[in-house]
Amino acid sequence: MRIFILAVDGLEYDLVKKWHLSNLKQEVFGWIDVSSFRKILTPILWASFITGKPPETHGVTSWWTLSSISWIDRLFHLVRYRSPVIKHIPDWRLRKMVEFLGLDIRPPQKSDLQERGLLTIFDCASRPVAIDVPSYSETADTRALYARAMEGGIMKYENEIWRVHKRRIEEIWDKLNLDWDLFMAWVDLCDQMGHMWMGKNMLKMLKAYTRIDRLAYRIKQVLPNDTLFVIVSDHGFGVSPDGYPCHSSRAFYSFNTDMGWRPEGILDYAGFVREVLLKKSA
Ligand SMILES: [Zn+2]
Repeated sequence: MRIFILAVDGLEYDLVKKWHLSNLKQEVFGWIDVSSFRKILTPILWASFITGKPPETHGVTSWWTLSSISWIDRLFHLVRYRSPVIKHIPDWRLRKMVEFLGLDIRPPQKSDLQERGLLTIFDCASRPVAIDVPSYSETADTRALYARAMEGGIMKYENEIWRVHKRRIEEIWDKLNLDWDLFMAWVDLCDQMGHMWMGKNMLKMLKAYTRIDRLAYRIKQVLPNDTLFVIVSDHGFGVSPDGYPCHSSRAFYSFNTDMGWRPEGILDYAGFVREVLLKKSA
């Protein structure tokens, strides 16, 4: 059996249910609780998803890795999260400051996991495709586009989010024709729109969610019959008690086929993917 994983960042279970997004809900659907993670942060959660390991083991702590020299990295993160001043500087601005100092900064990558001797779900596949998977194949390019757009104001930023999304869909479409056995594509439209509009402009949220629902429908139309189609999120989205958009601990999942298995936590997926892929080759 092949597996296609549509990784929808920040997809909120309650909204999928409320808006009856049937292509996202699929045969089996539900949510897992990720509140046991000290930091509900995208790259940390996806690193756990693809390795099946907790943050202490995979070592991803942030959107950025400062250098291949781990003591500089550790020192940086210590300062980043302990210092009251630096704590409140947005990641993209901090990245600029670090670049200004001439230090090498990049998103965490596949090689960081390999250095720790960790296997990912992609190591269990013979012909894997990984589009923009955080902590694995995500590049700094998109983030540079976002950062530049953000400087131009909120509308420019929002336009860039949609442009990036379109580009990703084109890449998914290009690579779907390859002979793959594991395909994982990450899209951050719902998460980005959530940070901007959750609780403020639900029409914009609905637009993003229906776009993803439609994407799931279109992909399913062209997938080979023996494909397990998994839609999964790293966390959900809500509004904090003081009224700001924030990550929620409800991480969505759904499967097009009932394999008799349900995840209980984000660490469970890697083993399950491995088992399904092995069954195929047995
Ligand atoms: Zn996320």
